[in-house]
Amino acid sequence: MTDTTLPATDWPTLQPGWVWLCGAGPGDPGLLTLHALNALRQADVVIYDALVQEAILDWAPQADHIYAGKRGGKPSAKQRDISLRLVDLAQAGKRVLRLKGGDPFVFGRGGEEAQTLVQHGVPIRIIPGISAGIGGLAYAGIPVTHRDVNQSVTFVTGHDQSGNTPSSLDWAGIARGSQVIVIYMGMKHAAQISAQLIAAGRSVTEPVAVVTTATTDNQAVMETTLGALDADIKAANLEPPAIICIGQAVRMRDVLDWQAQAAGIPPVNLDPLARGRPAESA
Ligand code: SAH
Repeated sequence: MTDTTLPATDWPTLQPGWVWLCGAGPGDPGLLTLHALNALRQADVVIYDALVQEAILDWAPQADHIYAGKRGGKPSAKQRDISLRLVDLAQAGKRVLRLKGGDPFVFGRGGEEAQTLVQHGVPIRIIPGISAGIGGLAYAGIPVTHRDVNQSVTFVTGHDQSGNTPSSLDWAGIARGSQVIVIYMGMKHAAQISAQLIAAGRSVTEPVAVVTTATTDNQAVMETTLGALDADIKAANLEPPAIICIGQAVRMRDVLDWQAQAAGIPPVNLDPLARGRPAESA
């Protein structure tokens, strides 16, 4: 299907001098929102991050594409420089689309960019996107909440701005209070994070999934346990970007790995939590 005409409705116009801060989703271009597509159609300039797929940029052939990522061997751009670049482009009268991986307001520093724009009098629109910690897990067959497992979920970043494990985080509190923990940017400090969770009472046998390049053609899922997490990441040579999901929800993959099923592999277990009753019953 190549016809990507937007359905008829009153789409907003990206005006000269405006910046739209937009989520591109976790990878699969089909996970863009229609507002994102509408923005791609109108932009003069697209400033994009490392995690935004090329195929998505192809949908804005009329625009200049400027790379502002911090990965992939290309020179890294400083956050402040990116924000000021956006201000400059907007003040030069461009229609600016700032495209960020996932959701712009989830561990993406979108709030800071937006704040700088507003402080400089640049009008903005925010277009949310599907965050990797939700959509990436869904593509791995893991429901981020599941009634039999969790009534809450905690999204955590494994890095702080200095690159350390966030020392301000109360890992013991998270260990006690959140049955499912979803970690962004957690690969580097996986050993430290799992040790702190285990010290706070989480089981070494608790299931963990590491989903790399989720929703792209290279998506891979490694299942392990909290005790073996770091050793298994190293043994499998896993590289970021990855989402780490800790908790019993991971076991639902046995029945919900829909990509494996589509490839002809039958479900491993139709009742992985051993409830012994139909899924919908109370
Ligand atoms: N704003 C983004 C997160 C940016 S932080 C969002 O909402 O998804 C970057 C981190 O997000 C990565 O280090 C990784 O932990 C996670 N991430 C983003 N895209 C991913 C993908 N396709 N697969 C796995 N993890 C991803």
